[in-house]
Amino acid sequence: MTDQKSLETIVAHAGILTDLTTGAISTPIYQTATFGHPELGKSTGYDYSRTANPTRCVLEKVLAELEGGVDASAFASGMAAITSLQVLFSPGDVIALSDDLYGGTYRLFEKIFRHWGLQSEYLDFTNIAEVKKLTDARVRAFFIETPTNPLMKITDLKKVIAFARSRNILVIVDNTFMTPYCQRPLLLGADIVVHSGTKYLSGHNDTLFGAVISKDIDAAGKISFMQNATGGVVSPFDSWLALRGIKTLAIRFDRAQENASRIARWLTKRKGVKKVYYPGLPDHPGRTIHFGQATGPGAILSFRLADKKAVRRVINFVETITFAESLGGVESLITYPVTQTHADIPESLRKRIGITGDLLRLSVGIEGCDDLIADLDQAIG
Ligand SMILES: *Cc1c(COP(=O)(O)O)cnc(C)c1O
Repeated sequence: MTDQKSLETIVAHAGILTDLTTGAISTPIYQTATFGHPELGKSTGYDYSRTANPTRCVLEKVLAELEGGVDASAFASGMAAITSLQVLFSPGDVIALSDDLYGGTYRLFEKIFRHWGLQSEYLDFTNIAEVKKLTDARVRAFFIETPTNPLMKITDLKKVIAFARSRNILVIVDNTFMTPYCQRPLLLGADIVVHSGTKYLSGHNDTLFGAVISKDIDAAGKISFMQNATGGVVSPFDSWLALRGIKTLAIRFDRAQENASRIARWLTKRKGVKKVYYPGLPDHPGRTIHFGQATGPGAILSFRLADKKAVRRVINFVETITFAESLGGVESLITYPVTQTHADIPESLRKRIGITGDLLRLSVGIEGCDDLIADLDQAIG
């Protein structure tokens, strides 16, 4: 049915004509906490908005369709979504996570989950030989970012998934950087996809939301139970903002990728820039694997400055680009991972993986590309 439609059409039609009583093109915002029942034992299908809300349900349906899952649960933030994964595990279980990963996810696993007995370890999933050396039978799941944040390392999802299958290990992919428009891990065999919808899905740096999308009905049921039990749900209004954002995901992502590709190439030639990390560059070590599992290079890139002291200059001098945490919006943002997104990762681990003081991350937006290049040019000095 909808599988035959292109992703462009699915996103453009996100939530249209869901209210057949009025024919509203845009999904109405059901700003209500609770729902009246016609009589004892009867329900409209909605009881209380923590459990289910019509606007949120439309968003969840769209997300499940986009990722090719059976169901989705939408949360108030990406971290609330990732927190809900706890329901799938027991004390003593170990989860192996990408060693180069969003700092908030690291903080959650180390400072919250570990205390309750859910253990974590960190693996370089881009090194399949290292992954295959895994002997710890307590490892119940892999939690993978590809590309990783902020070093844009690529994991061969098919290979890791095949190995995980042989060991009965659940594969969870944080697909925030690529979005289902560009990469669909469930179709490659992953079990669960999580999102910080705050980023590309919403796309305008104007709301927080997160999601868990499952391939399997049992896992989906558990996540949905957790969502209701813990209550970290996204509000009706933010669900609507998310739906509105998703409608333009395809054109936003296309444009941002185009800008990012040009900027990455320009940076590689710019004096004062030591190294550029971007899967779209011809010499990126994961390029072939990336394009075997994704349809585009994405619009996040990181770069190292030759002179670490120049970092301050770049951050203070950018004008069109804003110095701010986050990514995936229409506006370009520059981030300093060491003190922002990855501040919670201990210095020793940061150093080992290469998140050092000379590294900047750029989330490229949809502005005029010449303006962005000119801005970087004057800021790098
Ligand atoms: C931002 C982000 C998160 C956390 O999401 P929030 O919506 O900020 O809670 C998780 N994973 C990745 C890759 C992110 O970029």
